[in-house]
Amino acid sequence: MVTQTKCYGEAVKLVVQVKLQPTPQQASSLEATLRACNTAACEAAAVARRTGVYRNYDLRRDVYQAVKGEHRLGAQAAQHVIKKVSDAYKTLSSNIRAGNLGRPGSKRRRDAESRPVSFRWDAAQPYDARMLSWQADAGTVSIWTVDGRCKGVAYTGSPQQLKAVASLPLGECDLVHRDGMWFLYATVEVAEQATYEPDGFLGVDMGIANIAYDSDGNRHAGTRLNGYRRRQQRLRKRLQTKSTKSARRLLARRRRKETRHAANVNHLIAKTIVTEAARTGRGIAVEKLTGIRDRVRLRKPQRVTLSSWSFHQLGAFLTYKAHRAGVPLVQVDPRYTSQTCNRCGHRDKRNRPDQETFTCRSCGVVAHADHNAALNIAQRGVEDWGAVNRPHAASPRSQPGRETCKPGPSGPGS
Ligand SMILES: [Zn+2]
Repeated sequence: MVTQTKCYGEAVKLVVQVKLQPTPQQASSLEATLRACNTAACEAAAVARRTGVYRNYDLRRDVYQAVKGEHRLGAQAAQHVIKKVSDAYKTLSSNIRAGNLGRPGSKRRRDAESRPVSFRWDAAQPYDARMLSWQADAGTVSIWTVDGRCKGVAYTGSPQQLKAVASLPLGECDLVHRDGMWFLYATVEVAEQATYEPDGFLGVDMGIANIAYDSDGNRHAGTRLNGYRRRQQRLRKRLQTKSTKSARRLLARRRRKETRHAANVNHLIAKTIVTEAARTGRGIAVEKLTGIRDRVRLRKPQRVTLSSWSFHQLGAFLTYKAHRAGVPLVQVDPRYTSQTCNRCGHRDKRNRPDQETFTCRSCGVVAHADHNAALNIAQRGVEDWGAVNRPHAASPRSQPGRETCKPGPSGPGS
């Protein structure tokens, strides 16, 4: 599964994970490698704390020889270890600045500021192309370890994961040890396609009862998912009352499983919506993703569901899948989309008597509340796109390099 996304200007970066299936001997080499890398990282972190030198380049000057020599790490691994230490301090200091570790002078914060950062024996270790190569046809990797190069380490994954690692340019990878299993998290760079000129917009309203409702009237329901999450929450609560180590481990595993499940659902929804928009030559309009939590007021039991549910993930998936497919996506101001009648434009709080229903007090139209909202979002998408991309809508649009998917009714020659 693709688990994370980041947008960096032109290219879209995502992370694909595959599961390694090492032989017992290969597994022990991987284990020895993570132990060596993280022991070295802890030592480098202690030096950094003692000397106050945290920047990657400067720290390398101080600890490179020791890291490389004493732990059977090669030049590449040593550099990655040092960068990992430097990055960890960077994260720590931004956490301190953000107040995540308490107020200045509090014990927790003093500890964080004075102790060296530490690394679990199996903390993830970055690998670059010189330390790791993929044989996609054979389904194996060749990976550097402290015992030498491990060749022919088998990996497995979902069909999408395997397709992604076989066909896309892979960047840096992380070797991850989790629940006794081994994984590679590969960064993949996806070039985005040229965006086409949309012929209308598909509006998407995101909600709790329905994860997404589009302006064509398609409901992407959350009922099953919400039920699933409630069940998981009950299970978690039972486990939380026990504080044994095994209960904690089970709890962590369950939470990850739940997250994966939710991500899967979000992927499917995003894919369905993007495919439909691309098929019909339309763009996608979604509400601006900031502030959804502030806007939605809910009774308490639902609030729990909401806080554990990531709208932002669906938004992020929509964004990168749209990017990848060349589908234009605009984020519109969502204010009053749920109170305004899409047919006549009448705005009234009372237009929406309950969660499900929209009844216009002016023209009498009755609709599903989320469908009406999605139609408003679609309309705002059209307006926003026009304002930015065609400030002079009367003149024929003939932008070189931008392909028009379908000639619009006002296009030249019609
Ligand atoms: Zn109306």
